[in-house]
Amino acid sequence: MESRGNCILCGKPIYYGEKYVNDSGNLYHLSCYLKLKEKFDATRLEEKAKLEKIKEEEKAKLKIIEKEKEAEQEKLYEVFKASIEKPNLETKTLKEETEEEEKAVEEEKQKSLIPPTKEVIDPQIQTKEEGDKKIFMISLPDIKSENEIEIKELYKSIEIKARVGDKVYFQIIPTQGKILSKKFENSTLTLELEKE
Ligand SMILES: [Zn+2]
Repeated sequence: MESRGNCILCGKPIYYGEKYVNDSGNLYHLSCYLKLKEKFDATRLEEKAKLEKIKEEEKAKLKIIEKEKEAEQEKLYEVFKASIEKPNLETKTLKEETEEEEKAVEEEKQKSLIPPTKEVIDPQIQTKEEGDKKIFMISLPDIKSENEIEIKELYKSIEIKARVGDKVYFQIIPTQGKILSKKFENSTLTLELEKE
């Protein structure tokens, strides 16, 4: 019997009258070709399944990475939110420092408005007693009004201060008696004090 040639798969001759397949010049028995195709398809399916599995795994990995990223961002946001709601101590200290500095500058400015004191004058004082009162008459020439006089009642003394230009009148009366009345007239401050 004459043959067309040998089957690529099984190597046996393909006789005339037998069903065969010519695939790009390669001859197969039809049954061999179908077997091969089946095997090929199965392999392809297997490969496809493998690929699918790899893809799924990649997806799962990506999801984990994304979740980690989200968590990281959530954490950063929490830190950011906290920094807005509760400014950290460093910021507060800085703010306080700034305020203190501003205050110091303001005080310096106020001081510079007051002329520097060149002379401290002990004012003339006259005293007299009247019943249970002790009266002090303090002479403060050039002082125009009571508002220019600073009177401080301290624990064991009374401090009197009045400024005229670059001069300051300054007097301390050692007493524990309270001030009963004060009056300013004709450049004289009259203080009535409790006798000790
Ligand atoms: Zn064959």
